[in-house]
Amino acid sequence: MRPMDRKALIHQAKEARERAYAPYSNYRVGAALLGASGRIYTGCNVENAVYPECICAERVAVVKAVSEGERDFVAIAVVTRDGGSPCGSCRQVLLEFAPQVRVLIANESGQVRETSAAALLPDHFGPDNLSGKPYPRPAPPLAHDRPDPRMTNANSSPNTEVPSRTLEGGMCARMGGTPAAKGWTATTRISSDQ
Ligand SMILES: [Zn+2]
Repeated sequence: MRPMDRKALIHQAKEARERAYAPYSNYRVGAALLGASGRIYTGCNVENAVYPECICAERVAVVKAVSEGERDFVAIAVVTRDGGSPCGSCRQVLLEFAPQVRVLIANESGQVRETSAAALLPDHFGPDNLSGKPYPRPAPPLAHDRPDPRMTNANSSPNTEVPSRTLEGGMCARMGGTPAAKGWTATTRISSDQ
Protein backbone atom coordinates (compact mmCIF):
# COMPACT_ATOMS: atom_id res chain seq x y z
CA MET A 1 0.00 0.00 0.00
CA ARG A 2 1.43 3.34 -1.05
CA PRO A 3 2.09 5.97 1.64
CA MET A 4 -0.21 8.35 -0.27
CA ASP A 5 -3.05 5.84 -0.08
CA ARG A 6 -2.52 5.45 3.64
CA LYS A 7 -2.57 9.18 4.16
CA ALA A 8 -5.67 9.67 2.04
CA LEU A 9 -7.49 6.85 3.77
CA ILE A 10 -6.73 8.17 7.24
CA HIS A 11 -7.74 11.65 6.15
CA GLN A 12 -11.11 10.40 4.91
CA ALA A 13 -11.66 8.45 8.11
CA LYS A 14 -10.96 11.62 10.07
CA GLU A 15 -13.53 13.50 8.01
CA ALA A 16 -16.09 10.74 8.45
CA ARG A 17 -15.52 10.92 12.18
CA GLU A 18 -16.83 14.47 12.13
CA ARG A 19 -20.18 13.06 11.06
CA ALA A 20 -20.38 10.53 13.90
CA TYR A 21 -23.66 10.42 15.76
CA ALA A 22 -22.53 9.56 19.26
CA PRO A 23 -24.64 11.54 21.75
CA TYR A 24 -24.52 8.78 24.36
CA SER A 25 -20.94 7.57 24.44
CA ASN A 26 -19.40 10.70 22.96
CA TYR A 27 -16.86 8.29 21.48
CA ARG A 28 -16.66 9.32 17.87
CA VAL A 29 -15.32 6.92 15.29
CA GLY A 30 -14.57 7.40 11.62
CA ALA A 31 -13.67 4.73 9.10
CA ALA A 32 -12.58 4.69 5.48
CA LEU A 33 -12.49 1.47 3.52
CA LEU A 34 -10.43 1.19 0.34
CA GLY A 35 -11.88 -1.21 -2.22
CA ALA A 36 -9.85 -3.06 -4.84
CA SER A 37 -11.54 -0.81 -7.41
CA GLY A 38 -9.87 2.21 -5.83
CA ARG A 39 -13.11 3.55 -4.41
CA ILE A 40 -13.22 4.61 -0.79
CA TYR A 41 -16.28 4.02 1.37
CA THR A 42 -16.55 5.96 4.59
CA GLY A 43 -18.46 5.27 7.76
CA CYS A 44 -19.08 6.73 11.18
CA ASN A 45 -20.63 5.28 14.29
CA VAL A 46 -24.38 5.85 14.55
CA GLU A 47 -25.76 5.43 18.04
CA ASN A 48 -29.35 4.93 19.14
CA ALA A 49 -31.35 5.47 22.33
CA VAL A 50 -31.92 1.72 22.19
CA TYR A 51 -28.28 0.90 22.76
CA PRO A 52 -28.11 -2.48 20.97
CA GLU A 53 -29.10 -0.70 17.77
CA CYS A 54 -25.87 1.30 17.70
CA ILE A 55 -23.66 0.49 14.74
CA CYS A 56 -19.93 0.98 14.38
CA ALA A 57 -18.17 3.07 11.76
CA GLU A 58 -16.31 0.08 10.32
CA ARG A 59 -19.47 -1.90 9.69
CA VAL A 60 -21.19 1.12 8.17
CA ALA A 61 -18.31 1.37 5.68
CA VAL A 62 -18.42 -2.34 4.84
CA VAL A 63 -22.19 -2.36 4.40
CA LYS A 64 -22.01 0.69 2.16
CA ALA A 65 -19.34 -0.93 0.00
CA VAL A 66 -21.08 -4.28 -0.33
CA SER A 67 -24.37 -2.61 -1.14
CA GLU A 68 -22.57 -0.73 -3.91
CA GLY A 69 -21.27 -3.97 -5.36
CA GLU A 70 -17.73 -3.97 -3.95
CA ARG A 71 -16.51 -6.96 -1.94
CA ASP A 72 -12.73 -6.90 -2.37
CA PHE A 73 -10.95 -4.67 0.07
CA VAL A 74 -7.38 -3.49 0.42
CA ALA A 75 -7.38 -1.53 3.66
CA ILE A 76 -9.49 0.21 6.22
CA ALA A 77 -8.52 3.21 8.33
CA VAL A 78 -10.18 3.76 11.69
CA VAL A 79 -9.77 7.02 13.60
CA THR A 80 -10.76 7.60 17.22
CA ARG A 81 -9.55 9.96 19.93
CA ASP A 82 -7.28 7.35 21.46
CA GLY A 83 -6.51 4.90 18.67
CA GLY A 84 -9.07 2.34 19.81
CA SER A 85 -9.17 -1.01 18.02
CA PRO A 86 -12.18 -2.24 16.06
CA CYS A 87 -14.61 -4.18 18.24
CA GLY A 88 -15.11 -7.92 17.92
CA SER A 89 -18.20 -7.58 15.76
CA CYS A 90 -16.39 -5.38 13.25
CA ARG A 91 -13.41 -7.73 13.17
CA GLN A 92 -15.74 -10.59 12.30
CA VAL A 93 -17.46 -8.59 9.55
CA LEU A 94 -14.13 -7.52 8.04
CA LEU A 95 -12.93 -11.12 8.03
CA GLU A 96 -15.97 -12.22 6.08
CA PHE A 97 -14.73 -10.35 3.04
CA ALA A 98 -11.04 -9.76 3.53
CA PRO A 99 -8.95 -11.58 6.15
CA GLN A 100 -5.81 -9.91 4.86
CA VAL A 101 -7.26 -6.41 4.69
CA ARG A 102 -4.83 -3.91 6.21
CA VAL A 103 -6.22 -2.17 9.26
CA LEU A 104 -4.80 1.27 10.01
CA ILE A 105 -5.70 2.34 13.52
CA ALA A 106 -5.11 6.03 14.15
CA ASN A 107 -5.67 8.46 16.98
CA GLU A 108 -6.44 12.16 16.94
CA SER A 109 -2.78 13.11 17.07
CA GLY A 110 -2.05 11.22 13.89
CA GLN A 111 -0.27 8.25 15.40
CA VAL A 112 -0.99 5.14 13.36
CA ARG A 113 -0.46 1.45 13.90
CA GLU A 114 -1.04 -1.10 11.21
CA THR A 115 -2.30 -4.66 11.45
CA SER A 116 -4.64 -6.97 9.56
CA ALA A 117 -8.15 -8.26 10.15
CA ALA A 118 -6.85 -11.80 10.55
CA ALA A 119 -4.28 -10.71 13.12
CA LEU A 120 -6.99 -8.92 15.09
CA LEU A 121 -9.13 -12.04 15.29
CA PRO A 122 -6.99 -15.18 15.33
CA ASP A 123 -8.54 -18.63 15.02
CA HIS A 124 -11.74 -17.10 13.77
CA PHE A 125 -14.85 -18.78 12.47
CA GLY A 126 -15.23 -17.81 8.84
CA PRO A 127 -16.48 -18.73 5.40
CA ASP A 128 -14.08 -21.70 5.27
CA ASN A 129 -15.97 -23.36 8.09
CA LEU A 130 -19.08 -23.54 5.94
CA SER A 131 -17.38 -24.36 2.65
CA GLY A 132 -16.86 -28.07 3.22
CA LYS A 133 -13.07 -27.68 3.33
CA PRO A 134 -11.20 -29.83 5.84
CA TYR A 135 -11.43 -28.69 9.42
CA PRO A 136 -9.81 -27.84 11.73
CA ARG A 137 -7.45 -25.46 10.02
CA PRO A 138 -3.93 -25.20 11.44
CA ALA A 139 -3.91 -23.20 14.62
CA PRO A 140 -2.27 -19.80 14.31
CA PRO A 141 0.91 -19.18 16.28
CA LEU A 142 0.40 -17.70 19.69
CA ALA A 143 3.29 -15.31 19.36
CA HIS A 144 1.86 -12.72 21.70
CA ASP A 145 1.02 -15.11 24.48
CA ARG A 146 3.00 -14.86 27.62
CA PRO A 147 3.30 -17.90 29.80
CA ASP A 148 0.34 -18.06 32.13
CA PRO A 149 1.66 -18.18 35.70
CA ARG A 150 -1.09 -20.64 36.52
CA MET A 151 0.32 -23.04 33.97
CA THR A 152 3.05 -25.14 35.39
CA ASN A 153 6.18 -25.97 33.48
CA ALA A 154 6.35 -28.25 30.48
CA ASN A 155 7.15 -31.25 32.66
CA SER A 156 3.85 -31.10 34.48
CA SER A 157 1.58 -34.04 34.09
CA PRO A 158 -1.57 -33.82 31.99
CA ASN A 159 -4.82 -32.79 33.63
CA THR A 160 -3.13 -30.96 36.44
CA GLU A 161 -5.52 -29.12 38.67
CA VAL A 162 -4.36 -25.67 39.70
CA PRO A 163 -6.12 -22.89 41.58
CA SER A 164 -8.06 -20.53 39.38
CA ARG A 165 -7.51 -16.88 40.20
CA THR A 166 -10.63 -15.99 38.29
CA LEU A 167 -12.82 -18.11 40.46
CA GLU A 168 -11.13 -17.25 43.72
CA GLY A 169 -10.61 -13.57 43.18
CA GLY A 170 -13.40 -12.74 40.79
CA MET A 171 -16.58 -14.71 40.73
CA CYS A 172 -16.48 -15.98 44.27
CA ALA A 173 -15.53 -12.63 45.73
CA ARG A 174 -18.46 -11.04 43.97
CA MET A 175 -20.74 -13.72 45.32
CA GLY A 176 -19.75 -12.77 48.85
CA GLY A 177 -17.78 -15.70 50.11
CA THR A 178 -14.72 -17.78 49.83
CA PRO A 179 -14.75 -20.71 47.44
CA ALA A 180 -14.86 -23.11 50.35
CA ALA A 181 -17.71 -21.29 52.05
CA LYS A 182 -19.82 -21.36 48.92
CA GLY A 183 -18.81 -24.81 47.86
CA TRP A 184 -16.90 -23.77 44.79
CA THR A 185 -14.19 -26.12 43.78
CA ALA A 186 -12.11 -23.21 42.48
CA THR A 187 -10.03 -25.27 40.17
CA THR A 188 -9.29 -25.10 36.50
CA ARG A 189 -8.52 -28.28 34.70
CA ILE A 190 -5.63 -27.76 32.39
CA SER A 191 -4.69 -30.51 30.04
CA SER A 192 -1.25 -30.33 28.54
CA ASP A 193 -2.16 -32.47 25.57
CA GLN A 194 -4.93 -30.24 24.28
ZN1 LIG B 1 -17.35 -2.30 15.91
